[in-house]
Amino acid sequence: MKIYNTLSGKKEEFEPKEAGKVSMYVCGPTVYNLIHIGNARPMIIFDTVRRYMEYKGYDVNFVSNFTDVDDKIIKKAIEEGVDPSVISERYIEECKKDMKAMNVRPATTHPKATNEIEGMIGMIEELIAKGHAYVAKDGTVYFKTRSFREYGKLSHKNLDDLRGGNRSLLVSGEEQKEDVLDFVLWKPKKDGEPYWEAPWCEGRPGWHIECSVMSKKYLGDEIDIHAGGEDLIFPHHENEIAQSEAANGKAFARYWMHNAFLNIDNRKMSKSEGNFFTVRDISEKYDLQILRFFMLSAHYRSPLNFSADLMEAAKSGYDRIVTSVSNLDYLLENAPEREPDAAERADMEAAKGYMAKFEEAMEDDFNTADAISVIFELVKFVNTKAKEQSSQTFLQAMKKEIVTLTDLCGLIVEKEAEILDEDIEKLIQERQSARKEKNFQRADEIRDELQKQGIILEDTREGVKWKRA
Ligand code: AMP
Ligand code: ZN
Repeated sequence: MKIYNTLSGKKEEFEPKEAGKVSMYVCGPTVYNLIHIGNARPMIIFDTVRRYMEYKGYDVNFVSNFTDVDDKIIKKAIEEGVDPSVISERYIEECKKDMKAMNVRPATTHPKATNEIEGMIGMIEELIAKGHAYVAKDGTVYFKTRSFREYGKLSHKNLDDLRGGNRSLLVSGEEQKEDVLDFVLWKPKKDGEPYWEAPWCEGRPGWHIECSVMSKKYLGDEIDIHAGGEDLIFPHHENEIAQSEAANGKAFARYWMHNAFLNIDNRKMSKSEGNFFTVRDISEKYDLQILRFFMLSAHYRSPLNFSADLMEAAKSGYDRIVTSVSNLDYLLENAPEREPDAAERADMEAAKGYMAKFEEAMEDDFNTADAISVIFELVKFVNTKAKEQSSQTFLQAMKKEIVTLTDLCGLIVEKEAEILDEDIEKLIQERQSARKEKNFQRADEIRDELQKQGIILEDTREGVKWKRA
């Protein structure tokens, strides 16, 4: 399996630190708003990487944080007159709903920065003790960038270029820094902001130290893969490397993976630019499986431009797969239960070839664009081979081939049969009888079951009414 490593600037053969195991850290969102579809790109991509690694037999420990202390969260909390934790908890829950709807699996651990402050103070103390950080007069702690010789190795920049050769670049309020490239590890509180006790001042951590600490705590000093969007290469990931390697004395991550931007009108989609669609916006028009399909139809290192036309193209591509699978289900209802004949056996063998091609695409730095093309080839093959008289075994084998590949992409293509109106009515009657008999447990079970199917019940004076969500 080959992975493009930002650190070396090359595709490298993937070799985990420990055979059979993968430790992976993906920088997660700052939770002050609903996530936009740019944020969804790394979620979908690295969830797909995880699925494929698991399919290859690796035990994947996947950690992705929520940044729940940040200026933007504090600003919103002040606007709403609530505690910042109200804002962050609200948007963590909303983010989890979006992840579920995009079929992005929850991480093994989703640490929150505010639960890890003790570890951050510990790492900052270690950096000071080792001469890699210093405390300014007002209690701000800075990382001494020039103390880390390899600074710039991820973004392939050298210190002098980064510094612009000019110390006077220090901006107002930062005069206490020894060097323009020094960055904040800990900063003093301001009025109305959340803060924690620390040896240097009451205050809060800088953003970069969060990830160094959470990655170390949940995955160890040396991890296999660290990932995020390409905007994080500099300074966030460069600074994480400096902090972690200076503190731990070990190489931090073996492979650094970065997705390119999701653009709109060829400009990065971002909250600050205001040119974004939230995942929730898109869900009003499309099944989010289509958004997932859209993201995977480009290689993760290529910029992807979002447009209504491309979403429509993604919809028809995704529908083509769903239709093929539902056609197989339809044929299966009356398919003869016989041994597959010679032609079917040959086709079953031929279908396996698509798996090999799919793997080849994924092993080449997760080329999901090619992998999706292989799924289309398979669908075309299946559509020409599956017929009224095909055997059950054959049809099931064809369905399995498609579903195995789509599952690896995290795409759900099997539509659950929609519950019929008459079945709903029957369940509602049963619920009424259960209530009369004071069997509230059964009544609740029925309500929950219907809710799962997207049926909402409303108790009115004229009786129970229902509607589809
Ligand atoms: P943020 O909440 O801005 O810290 O972003 C969370 C994650 O989304 C990071 O990995 C970012 O790199 C990524 N991200 C943000 N905007 C985009 C975009 N337009 N395209 C791709 N990735 C993005
Ligand atoms: Zn991070």
